[in-house]
Amino acid sequence: MNTQKITSLIRDVKDFPKEGIIFKDITPILKKPAVCREIVSEFFKRFNRTTIDVIVGIESRGFLFGMLLAQKFKIPFVPVRKSGKLPYKTVAYKYDLEYGSAEIEIHADAIVKGQHILIHDDLLATGGTASATAELVKMLGGKIAGFSFLVELGFLNGRQKLENYTDNVECLIKY
Ligand code: AMP
Repeated sequence: MNTQKITSLIRDVKDFPKEGIIFKDITPILKKPAVCREIVSEFFKRFNRTTIDVIVGIESRGFLFGMLLAQKFKIPFVPVRKSGKLPYKTVAYKYDLEYGSAEIEIHADAIVKGQHILIHDDLLATGGTASATAELVKMLGGKIAGFSFLVELGFLNGRQKLENYTDNVECLIKY
């Protein structure tokens, strides 16, 4: 995998969505279909020996490569969304943020008990969102097979939080 090429397509946006945050914008990657294919192939290679039945993508940028990955693995894709967005019966999980709290949901029938789940998002920061997603998966009886991210902000130690669920955490680009 050409890590440098991918890194060059991740744009730093200062002070978005609020002051002090450097937002890692992956939309320039989406304009390069060959790079997108390379990313999907790399994830596929890294999880080739893992049993995965379903890919769960986290709103909203986790849908982008999550869905492509599910197609590559020829398995179902399931969206996790912020509360109030999913139309059918849902299961919800509330978690703490730096300031305040957030709630995410999954459709109650999205996972069959015992299925092996790969959780995907664009970026791992503190790991709060991915951990909350793992809790939702567990509430439906799913087993956490792994986590995948394009980008890891290593200095926020999110990986440590995810190790409560599995050691199988793959990130393509680390900062
Ligand atoms: P966290 O729960 O702290 O791991 O935050 C992860 C979620 O917030 C992911 O859905 C990311 O897309 C988003 N996020 C957090 N920090 C950044 C950042 N610096 N750049 C882009 N997205 C971010």
